[in-house]
Amino acid sequence: MYIYCKGLCHVCQNPLDLFVKCRNYETKELIRKYRKIRPIWLHNNYKYYKFFGLKVKNVCNYCFKNFKKPSISELKGREIGKGNQYMSRSLTKEDIILWYIGLQSYVSKHFHNREILVYNDI
Ligand SMILES: [Zn+2]
Repeated sequence: MYIYCKGLCHVCQNPLDLFVKCRNYETKELIRKYRKIRPIWLHNNYKYYKFFGLKVKNVCNYCFKNFKKPSISELKGREIGKGNQYMSRSLTKEDIILWYIGLQSYVSKHFHNREILVYNDI
């Protein structure tokens, strides 16, 4: 069992299009049960394409809708510590790894055939 993402967001560096893969059917059922026990909101981590000048980059759903190029007045405020910095609301690597660690412990507790777990980083 491992978790995989298709790249990182160009703006906020959060993982995009996450999915969990496993080999046997029993583990799949346990993953479905765990998603009901501890749901994870991945809607903001879907992958979109956005233009930055003439180039197209991968961005998350939240950055696709909300990210704008900062104006000169915002840049001036940022230099002296005024104004709000842009914060993405898509899930970060740490949030997803914490959820995945919980999933691994749940699967290892409830799995009967004792599958060997494979640990991968995102
Ligand atoms: Zn983003």
